[in-house]
Amino acid sequence: MQDAMKLVVVGAGGRMGQTLIRIIDATDGATLHAAVERPGSPLIGRDAGEVAGLGQNGILIGDDPLSAFLHADGVIDFTSPQASTDYAGLAAQARIVHVIGTTGCLPEHDAAIEAAARHARIVKSGNMSLGVNLLSVLVQQAARALDAAGWDIEVLEMHHKHKVDAPSGTALLLGEAAARGRGIDLAENSVRVRDGHTGAREAGSIGFATLRGGSVIGEHSVILAGEGELVTLSHSAGDRSIFARGAVKAALWARDKKPGFYSMLDVLGLSS
Ligand code: NAP
Repeated sequence: MQDAMKLVVVGAGGRMGQTLIRIIDATDGATLHAAVERPGSPLIGRDAGEVAGLGQNGILIGDDPLSAFLHADGVIDFTSPQASTDYAGLAAQARIVHVIGTTGCLPEHDAAIEAAARHARIVKSGNMSLGVNLLSVLVQQAARALDAAGWDIEVLEMHHKHKVDAPSGTALLLGEAAARGRGIDLAENSVRVRDGHTGAREAGSIGFATLRGGSVIGEHSVILAGEGELVTLSHSAGDRSIFARGAVKAALWARDKKPGFYSMLDVLGLSS
């Protein structure tokens, strides 16, 4: 039998970082190897288990990713676009699995991360939950079945007030699924903001609407609006552990894979 997979959590003090530390502790076949925060963080030197609410586990939060990655099997990363891009290069050097949940990446971040995947096994997704990935398959089917001339597609999302990027990574993932179903490019056909005298809605476009407030973990709906009828496909996240469980599952799945750039659809066997 294989030894437990030794995982590093970067962004260990964040909302997702703490959740990951608890989920790794509860997962057979995975063990927390190291915990990393950005240099200068007040959490450096604190016990990672204690910060995550588990009680002391003897792993002190550090700020040196290279030494943390050295004897690890994988890193799980829900941090910021620039940090994830930098970690992708280090994970590639260390030849370990890199699971990236960070959202808000710009094309230049994505290009650098995909380049690192020539040497690393990278799994990146704007949403690591089983439910949202299944939803994206259903959205793709619905967008294909309901034609652009008769059906308008809008993606609506709400998140907690601390979220810094918009639309959410999940909203974009669902928009990409709708665009795939329609055989169009999302970037060229999306309307991400509406304000003032916008004119009538352009047929075939995919619209986004963003709400922020309170402690909402993640609400997403894809609305297909036809003449006299609406089809709404939606997902509600009640607990961050759904993302952390998905991320740990992705790390375990990627352990024996070849270097490459994978998505949660690959991990869950949902890719077409
Ligand atoms: P958060 O609470 O702000 O956590 C981010 C953590 O990363 C913070 O502790 C931050 O430290 C730390 N960090 C920043 N730069 C770093 C660096 N260079 N090295 C190490 N740590 C660093 O945010 P969150 O709610 O956990 O979300 C994090 C990201 O995951 C966001 O992009 C969010 O949208 C995404 N997310 C994705 C999914 C998914 O399923 N894909 C689900 C939930 C969230 P400081 O606060 O000290 O800067």
